[in-house]
Amino acid sequence: MTNGKAKSAARRSPARADRGGRRSLFRRRKVCKFCADKIDDINYKDVKLLSAFIPERAKILPRRISGTCATHQRKLRLAIMRARILALLPYIAD
Ligand SMILES: [Zn+2]
Repeated sequence: MTNGKAKSAARRSPARADRGGRRSLFRRRKVCKFCADKIDDINYKDVKLLSAFIPERAKILPRRISGTCATHQRKLRLAIMRARILALLPYIAD
């Protein structure tokens, strides 16, 4: 029967989609980049480091996305704000 063959092929694709959906639920626990690298002071002149936390919209990446701990997020925010004043980083994306 040709019907049985088509059925098994159709069954395969939703199973694959389901597996992908489950994987997105189990996100790997994020570790604070600064804690891992043992960076205590975040310098506002370190544009390369700061720009990693500013995606294209020029907004500071929230903690829940970046995984940065509260202490470092505060320091990071301060550093980004200082860098913005000095025009090292943009306020808004253009
Ligand atoms: Zn940290």
